[in-house]
Amino acid sequence: MHQAYFPYDFLSPRRIVFGWGRRAEIGPLARSLGRRAFVVCGSRTLERSGALGELLGLLARADVEARPLATITREPEVDDVDRAVAALRQAGVAEGDLLLAIGGGSAIDLAKAVAALVQNPQSDTVRDYLEGVGRGLKIERPPLPLMAVPTTAGTGSEATKNAVISCYDPPFKKSLRSDQMIPAIVLVDPELAVSVPPEVTAWTGMDAITQLIEAYITRKPNPVAQALAISGLEITGDAIVEAYRDGSSRDARQRMAHAALLSGMALANSGLGMAHGVAAALGVHCRVPHGLACAVMLPVAMRVNRPVREAQFARIGRALSGRRWPSQRAAAEVAVERVEEMCQAVGVPRWLSEIGVRREQIPALVAGSRGNSMNGNPRDLSDELMTALLEEML
Ligand SMILES: [Zn+2]
Repeated sequence: MHQAYFPYDFLSPRRIVFGWGRRAEIGPLARSLGRRAFVVCGSRTLERSGALGELLGLLARADVEARPLATITREPEVDDVDRAVAALRQAGVAEGDLLLAIGGGSAIDLAKAVAALVQNPQSDTVRDYLEGVGRGLKIERPPLPLMAVPTTAGTGSEATKNAVISCYDPPFKKSLRSDQMIPAIVLVDPELAVSVPPEVTAWTGMDAITQLIEAYITRKPNPVAQALAISGLEITGDAIVEAYRDGSSRDARQRMAHAALLSGMALANSGLGMAHGVAAALGVHCRVPHGLACAVMLPVAMRVNRPVREAQFARIGRALSGRRWPSQRAAAEVAVERVEEMCQAVGVPRWLSEIGVRREQIPALVAGSRGNSMNGNPRDLSDELMTALLEEML
């Protein structure tokens, strides 16, 4: 391996329940964490399709009182967190309460932040706890127990220890992070993703693939995380393209949900890289959704890092293609080509101008891409190099 392998730590959810139709088990699972569940929901489609109603009915049958706390349909902002924490405090938190997140990464991140902050009242705003902004307060007391039910196969937030929170004035996108924030129970029912539209399937799926690749080649590796990452890439194969074309494909939805979960476990224990660094800046300066931003940046991030990670790229090439290649060089090239083909097949734009980026925004994007994700990138990338790379993508 390219880095010292030992020693290592590994954190993950206490219990993972995975399977088609297994949402039927939500009641007893929630009941094992408490009696009253504050629900953070991630999409109106869930409400409209009846899926949310079905889940709430199952909770009632298991003697869990469900209380709606928030519905969020975009990536969470400082105000969203502060408002939900205030509402929960007003409701009066008691013994036996839990948070239940049903939705994509946004809902799960919001629930994670709320569960942590309601138990840590040193400040009224999440901002004071975010990395690199505010007062640098820490999550000291254990958060309320949290159960995550992801409905998009993407961010892997159900298995990570951070919540990404945005602010547009002043512009930042930063993490609230604590080892204690990993959800206690994760219930993954890939059938819940059947109603996710193709575009969201593409973006969230590419986020998972970016996370698997960046966690695999990062300069902060962890042997368990890397084993999970490569296994996730093997199972992904063409599943993202299939799920994009046929949303009801059970095989594709299962493979993507599993890959997304593994990507979360991998990134929570290793590092990320350039694509995620720039994606945060694209989110806050150009309002590009996280998964789309990662997808646009991934091929470039791979080409930039390949010279220092040839052996890892060869392994990725074999995992994604499911076959051997005559040389390491050929296999490494396949890794990049496969990702470029995937992006094209699921309609990811190639140029930054196509996602609304203007030349004069590049200095802010370069500055805004620095942080925890970028620190995990295999190569050091100077401001000059980053500027040149982004300008080439206009
Ligand atoms: Zn991501």
